[in-house]
Amino acid sequence: MAKVLDSFLQDNLEDLKTRGLYNEIDPLESPNGPTIKIGGKELINLSSNNYLGLATDDRLKKAAIDAVNTYGVGAGAVRTINGTMKLHLELEETIASFKKTEAAIAYQSGFNCNMAAISAVMNKNDAILSDELNHASIIDGCRLSKAKIIRVKHSDMDDLRAKAKEATESGLYNKVMVITDGVFSMDGDVAKLPEIVEIAEEFDLITYVDDAHGSGVLGKGAGTVKHFGLQDKVDFQIGTLSKAIGVIGGYVAGKKQLIDWLKVSSRPFLFSTALTPADVAAAKRAIEILAESTELHDKLWESGNYLKKGLSELGFDIGESETPITPVIIGDEVKTQAFSKRLNEEGVYAKSIVFPTVPKGTGRVRNMPTAAHTEEMLDKAIAIYEKVGKEMGII
Ligand code: PMP
Repeated sequence: MAKVLDSFLQDNLEDLKTRGLYNEIDPLESPNGPTIKIGGKELINLSSNNYLGLATDDRLKKAAIDAVNTYGVGAGAVRTINGTMKLHLELEETIASFKKTEAAIAYQSGFNCNMAAISAVMNKNDAILSDELNHASIIDGCRLSKAKIIRVKHSDMDDLRAKAKEATESGLYNKVMVITDGVFSMDGDVAKLPEIVEIAEEFDLITYVDDAHGSGVLGKGAGTVKHFGLQDKVDFQIGTLSKAIGVIGGYVAGKKQLIDWLKVSSRPFLFSTALTPADVAAAKRAIEILAESTELHDKLWESGNYLKKGLSELGFDIGESETPITPVIIGDEVKTQAFSKRLNEEGVYAKSIVFPTVPKGTGRVRNMPTAAHTEEMLDKAIAIYEKVGKEMGII
């Protein structure tokens, strides 16, 4: 190894470890369900994005197996060469119909989707108004576009309006976009979309909502934009197929002309192999299930409300979440990690989230209850929280 690389790695890894910011990865020995097995031990799982429990659903498994039998395991090429199977188009039609948009385009991941979609439309002559707590993939997608990035204070509509006015009146930019998460995954709060859309209309901003954590969760499953009844007012509705949908992939839903443009210009669509047949078939089945019934969605909210009530009654600071996401805010990074470790030892897998994922001093253990959790599992988790919380002087 080059000496410069060796010392770079040594210094930086050491630094993360001494500051308590080094993230250990625990490999699972089981599916990512409501309980998981790690190191031979069964734990209540409060860390997955498998909100509806679909990652292990038999109907999705069957769809995936059938697709493998019919189409094989790989798509064999990028979408624009000959990696587009009929299945891909069917998935995109299913997404568009569920989202009530004219069309949709699927990508290999939600991360990839943000890399693809922002830079397909925005360039160095443009500006993007981006909420300061937007997801890393939005930040990277914005950077890739080379547009001027204007950070907006989190969900601060006065700041957004002032910056939208300044950017559009400056004459410096051809186009201005406002971009936000639909649901902010570290706190579970929801973007103020009605106000954002109003400001966008006033200043002719392009609107872009990444609903990775809102799809399947809000709007009876159809997402944050539907929750607010704003389907005709948002240009880009982004989602992932990897969280509530339980599989892998990402998508943009919007007007046909926009999707046509993304299909000829967005680089991961043009230059990266298409989603596998199994992924596509399973994701399509999941969306059909959501469109047929709100049962899983309703169960998710029941689990979320039950856990929140239990933890707040114990005296934990669970922030201001408006969704089933339930952070337990501890503050100090090292204490947060120690708390998560003790929960783990007692039988709850709830991951600590610390800087740089969240701002310094706001370390939290984040709980993601799902439709697959039973009341019995949640009661057990709450009892463990109580024990560890008292032991560490947090409650
Ligand atoms: N956007 C947001 C808001 C996310 O939270 C995530 C996942 N953490 C992504 C995009 C990336 O999605 P994926 O995991 O499908 O790549």
